[in-house]
Amino acid sequence: MTTQGKQPIIQDEDTALIQRAYRNLLKAMPSPLNAEDKQNIRAAFELAARAHQQQRRKSGEPYILHPIEVARICVREIGLGPTAVVCALLHDVVEDTDVSLKEIHEQFGDRVALIVDGLTKLDGLHDSESPQAENLTKVLRTMLSDVRVVLIKMADRLHNLRTIKSMAQHKQLKIAAETSTIYAPLAHRLGLYKIKSEFQDICLKITHPQEYHEIADKLAQTRRAREQYIEEFKRPLLAALKEQLGINVRIIGRPKSIYSIWNKIRTKQVDFEDIYDLFAIRIIVDVPAEREKTYCWQVYAIVTDFYKPIPERLKDWITNPKANGYESLHTSVVGPQGRYVEVQIRSERMDDIAERGFAAHWKYKGVRGVGSNVNVFETWLNQVRETLENVGSGSAIEFLTDFQSNLFSEEVHVFTPKGEMRILPEGATALDFAFSIHSDIGCTCRAVKVNNRVERINYKLHNGDQIQVITDKNQRPSEDWLQYVITAKAKNRIRAALKEEKRQLAALGREILERKLQNLHKVPVEENADMLAKWFGFPNRLEFLSAIALQQVELSGLKSFRPDGTRLVEIEGEKAPGSNDIEPKPGDSPQTPKPLKQPGKADVFINGEPGTYYAYSFATCCNPVQGDPIFAYVGAKEGVKIHRTTCPNAPFLLANYEYRVLKAEWGATVKADFIATITVTGIDAGPGVIQQLTDRISSLGINIRSFSITGEGGYFEGRISLVVSNTDQLNQAIMALKQFKFVANVSRME
Ligand code: MN
Repeated sequence: MTTQGKQPIIQDEDTALIQRAYRNLLKAMPSPLNAEDKQNIRAAFELAARAHQQQRRKSGEPYILHPIEVARICVREIGLGPTAVVCALLHDVVEDTDVSLKEIHEQFGDRVALIVDGLTKLDGLHDSESPQAENLTKVLRTMLSDVRVVLIKMADRLHNLRTIKSMAQHKQLKIAAETSTIYAPLAHRLGLYKIKSEFQDICLKITHPQEYHEIADKLAQTRRAREQYIEEFKRPLLAALKEQLGINVRIIGRPKSIYSIWNKIRTKQVDFEDIYDLFAIRIIVDVPAEREKTYCWQVYAIVTDFYKPIPERLKDWITNPKANGYESLHTSVVGPQGRYVEVQIRSERMDDIAERGFAAHWKYKGVRGVGSNVNVFETWLNQVRETLENVGSGSAIEFLTDFQSNLFSEEVHVFTPKGEMRILPEGATALDFAFSIHSDIGCTCRAVKVNNRVERINYKLHNGDQIQVITDKNQRPSEDWLQYVITAKAKNRIRAALKEEKRQLAALGREILERKLQNLHKVPVEENADMLAKWFGFPNRLEFLSAIALQQVELSGLKSFRPDGTRLVEIEGEKAPGSNDIEPKPGDSPQTPKPLKQPGKADVFINGEPGTYYAYSFATCCNPVQGDPIFAYVGAKEGVKIHRTTCPNAPFLLANYEYRVLKAEWGATVKADFIATITVTGIDAGPGVIQQLTDRISSLGINIRSFSITGEGGYFEGRISLVVSNTDQLNQAIMALKQFKFVANVSRME
């Protein structure tokens, strides 16, 4: 986030600003520092201030304010100590200035150098498939020697998000995607709940600004009333708890995050007003660790004396803590005026761990509550270690996907026929189980018996299942198997088996390419294969060469290839090779180029250039309509696609293939047709419904492409595909349908 400074050196008012920020940091330290720590922090601050002197943030502020604030977050919001402060102050020095790691090492020693190195992005990753993935891998590797690396990284990300306003919008979207697919789940896994919800709220504000502000406004409007209600709920309880238990108890009202409200509205299809657990409170008891479980249940007994509990909402995370170390007793009760209130009951220690997770865990090392008997974080670190060891040959993106599905998830416990327990990540299948026993058993797995019933190999494991693997020596892994497994081990073994097969194909493809290249350009394959693979939109040469062998590459495109590796530009009368549909659908002749599907094509600018340079098409996963916020994605197989920024696939694409994402904007309004699908729900008012809906749409001059309706128990749900020229027209249709009394909700399909 730097702008290399041509700006003048630090001004006087800057100096005052910097000094104030630094004093605030020192004030944030919980206990007085010893002389050595004080001196180290001062030295780190001075070195960083000098090194970043010429740099400013996008916001125009002196750069050094960023590392100071990251250090303050480490102390105040994560609870880290002086060493972390030193490292946070230095975290961008090696990457962005000419100070070397060696100098850091000489001045601050091994530990600080190790952490700063972990936080420094890898250099020269421009050719890499996903620099983000490789950088994250590095952070995680260093985390195994010192967990503070990943915690400081979280603080860094948090401050960058808090100050994201000054970035360009398409950059904000990339950062939001990366945050919601990687950093938020990681924060969750590390037990940093507060940071996780702040991540999610900021991402929501970027990706769905309108919905975000709507919820924020409603929360603000209802705040006073909610506070009064919580007071009313608390008053009798607090007195009874103090009197009957004779211990210190805190009761706090707990606001729900905007993201969690939004998520509930979306997944449960309800209105803001319908969400009952907007009311949530937390009761925290201050008791010694060995008595905390007893006291928590006593509190539960007292609460339910006053308010009627809802039994199915009772969750005991004290006896069985969550996989990320979270402990608490949850329930919901019926409060005053018959409203539901979510109640969390926990000890001060549990609360500390719930708020600060990983960081607090070290403080309580050895101090264990009654229920928890496994050191969850160490188990997790071991899993991370195992996954990293398995990376080996696979690409960083594959690793990241594995990492997400393995290490962010909860666990499932299953048994072998001999009664031996195996722990697999939640969502793992019988095939994962087979690979966890032995890779040969995995590779030859034909079917499984689950609790003595024969099931398919992609059977999803449930807690307590007993699994027996049935093998067949003629069985071999196939490409679909990758969809059946989620563990890194199984994926790696399957990929290795498939790769061997591909390698043989690639040798064949290479010969074909060799001949073509000799004829056309007189250049050898060896020097050009990587560039050609990229040019044709393949992730690597192996994929490219084996696709040639399978006749999935339109090699006539080679004519417009220039050995200097010029980019994908459409040449008059000839489509850019990257935009060919390389995998022909059955029935298509591979020789005939397919016409673009869009009839009247809208004007789109990609990276500031006319979209026609890029033979783009519109993604069918989200069907953009002129006026929607959009971005362009250079696909591996299907050329440039325009997606909506709210596309369900967007977070994955943006986070993992950031380098393939280009800025896209709508050009001048031209008459073009877009398909948009809306859903209409409401009360089934009889046979006239369809007629009324279609008449209303037609009266707006909008054509209907298809209409389907289903009804049940007096309700109907209709799905209407419209042909519109822009979002204005689409919104007009939505508004018009909402006017009908029998219509409950109208929304565009995501
Ligand atoms: Mn930074």
